[in-house]
Amino acid sequence: MIHPIRLYGDPVLRRRAAEVTSFDGPLSALAADMLETMYAAEGVGLAAPQIGVSKRLFVALEMSGTEDDENDPWESRVEHVLVNPVIIKREGSMLGRDGCLSIPGLTADDVPRDLEIEVAYQDLSGAHHQLRAEGYFAHVLQHEHDHLEGILYYDRLPPLRRQAFLDEHRKDLADMQRRAKAFLKEAEGRKAPPRKVPVQR
Ligand code: ZN
Repeated sequence: MIHPIRLYGDPVLRRRAAEVTSFDGPLSALAADMLETMYAAEGVGLAAPQIGVSKRLFVALEMSGTEDDENDPWESRVEHVLVNPVIIKREGSMLGRDGCLSIPGLTADDVPRDLEIEVAYQDLSGAHHQLRAEGYFAHVLQHEHDHLEGILYYDRLPPLRRQAFLDEHRKDLADMQRRAKAFLKEAEGRKAPPRKVPVQR
């Protein structure tokens, strides 16, 4: 099932997500929904808070080829589902471009990230694994991991550039905040429809 993606301004994006403790059918269904939602939005990663679920898991795509390859990198992609991920090793640094499905239409260049990382995580059955990543895939993993901490990519910019980003996009961001608020209000209404009490005469 494709879920609506929570927008900038939704408080779930600023919350630290909770550890996953039940490795069951509903968790697998959630991961499947997240992959479906990510593909529908043409993203390369999606964290559970982005569909309103404050739990520590995300999905991400690893493209094994490069754009210069004869093989389409999209065709050789590998899907990853990381539950309770912890970055256990960081080496080197890089600057990269970030965008986010929760901040549609905006990007920032030269966002500082670690060049190589090692991530310990669990799979959907609860088994423990480790994953090494570098370059673009490491960048994606750090972006998604940040979502579990309530961090958005522009938070990673140096203070002056962060402020410049907020100033430059003030109007777009305010618009997203309005849409996030309207969505939450509507969702609240769906959850608890006003009860109609028949009038007794
Ligand atoms: Zn994002």
